[in-house]
Amino acid sequence: MKRKFIIAVSLLLACSYTLCGQQNDEELYRIADSLHNAMFTIDTHIDTPICTNHPEWDYGVEKGQVTFQLMKKGGLDAALFAVYIDQGKRDAVSSQKAVDYVKREIVLFRKYIDEHSDIAAQAYTADDFLKYKAEGKRIVMFAIENGYGIGKEISNLDMFYDLGVRAITLSHNYNNDICDASRDSVAEWNGLSPYGEKVVERMNELGIMIDLSHVATSTLFDVLEKSKAPVFASHSAVRKIRNHARNLWDDEIKAIAAHGGLIQVAAEKYFLSATAPKKATVKTFVDHVDYVKNLVGIEHVGIGTDFDGGGGLVDLRNAGDMKNITVEMLRRGYTHREIKMFWGENFLRVLKEVEKTAKELQGE
Ligand SMILES: [Zn+2]
Repeated sequence: MKRKFIIAVSLLLACSYTLCGQQNDEELYRIADSLHNAMFTIDTHIDTPICTNHPEWDYGVEKGQVTFQLMKKGGLDAALFAVYIDQGKRDAVSSQKAVDYVKREIVLFRKYIDEHSDIAAQAYTADDFLKYKAEGKRIVMFAIENGYGIGKEISNLDMFYDLGVRAITLSHNYNNDICDASRDSVAEWNGLSPYGEKVVERMNELGIMIDLSHVATSTLFDVLEKSKAPVFASHSAVRKIRNHARNLWDDEIKAIAAHGGLIQVAAEKYFLSATAPKKATVKTFVDHVDYVKNLVGIEHVGIGTDFDGGGGLVDLRNAGDMKNITVEMLRRGYTHREIKMFWGENFLRVLKEVEKTAKELQGE
């Protein structure tokens, strides 16, 4: 009799516990929904333009992780849509081909936005984001992944600026004419090249954000010394947690933050976990966010998923799953204010600062 009673009580407790857990989760998702409706949200690195422009191409990554419909489902307003350019030969003819290619890809994707103008728009300024958010549109701001794509003429930066490019990752995995990269085996410039210094200067003058993901440590510190505007790492993680060449050491994170910039944590399983990358989840991702927040403050951290370029986690399969991150942050006690900063306010602050610096430099 006594045993039956204990079993009954245990069952009752187990049921109420589960129910309570469910209610908690439901409540957290409800809060996440209302937060995503109200706050501005941006993912600072996706490789979607080429995927959308050329669905038939196969380059060994999962594709289709970002569509305007999935963005809406996940409560994601905007992204830096990067046109990725593979590192090729660095002679004049090959470099010009790279420039032409990037330009063509941007023009093609702009056409795609035009065809979806009822639900999407292209942003050129920080203010555009808020304007289109109020209209309920998905927002595209262009970026270029790999400065190889700007070729050997500084004036190409002006041309890309006119097309709406507002961020450029200075290198990809290998050294280029601008700088040394984090995954190249040799140092070529020991940081920025003389041409790279001019590129940084012109990006400051135009108001194009300098993206330090992929660059070598030497380049990172050269840029921080040279750049008059804050910079960011659009998709990198914490090297102290996961020693991967694409991640940032504490002194790099601190230096970017001290310069007013951002560390946008990548949702890339191999950057997040060494032991079980295929099992990396939103929890693994938020561990890196926690680390950056504790090291330099919430005002210097955000997200760059690398969707359509290798990004994605067990419970963050595509842009439709973004609210899972917010729920995990709520579980860990992040305040609404902190969540808003992480998702978009930090990025807008830095972009505005970049715009302001450009105006000041143009006025000089
Ligand atoms: Zn990348």
